[in-house]
Amino acid sequence: MGDTIFGKIIRREIPADIVYENDDVLAFRDLNPQAPVHVLFIPKHAMATLNDAIPSDATLLGNLLLAAADYAKREGFAEQGYRTVINCNEHGGQTVFHLHVHLLAGRSMHWPPG
Ligand code: AMP
Repeated sequence: MGDTIFGKIIRREIPADIVYENDDVLAFRDLNPQAPVHVLFIPKHAMATLNDAIPSDATLLGNLLLAAADYAKREGFAEQGYRTVINCNEHGGQTVFHLHVHLLAGRSMHWPPG
């Protein structure tokens, strides 16, 4: 896949407010937050969209969600609740083509989304 702004964040070529990191996953605050807490969890070994995932990516995809839940617990809002979202391609509203999980928290979320 081509490089994206998230690749530059992983390589520390541009700044980001990094809040969580492990061997496979990096997480940083969204530049344009849609909730009081809005953090993006990205795999360090990128794929462009969820469509590009293959069975051997199952652990990586699971690790993104586990990292988000771990962060929510450590930050103290897990019990109150939060939302995780993966946008895919045009109709999903994806704008950065490095797969990422949005973690949104700190306010009540509506369903269905707009
Ligand atoms: P999506 O629309 O699902 O592709 O989400 C991309 C998200 O990346 C948007 O919510 C943007 O606000 C966010 N974003 C874009 N550039 C940056 C950046 N340099 N640092 C943090 N978040 C960013």
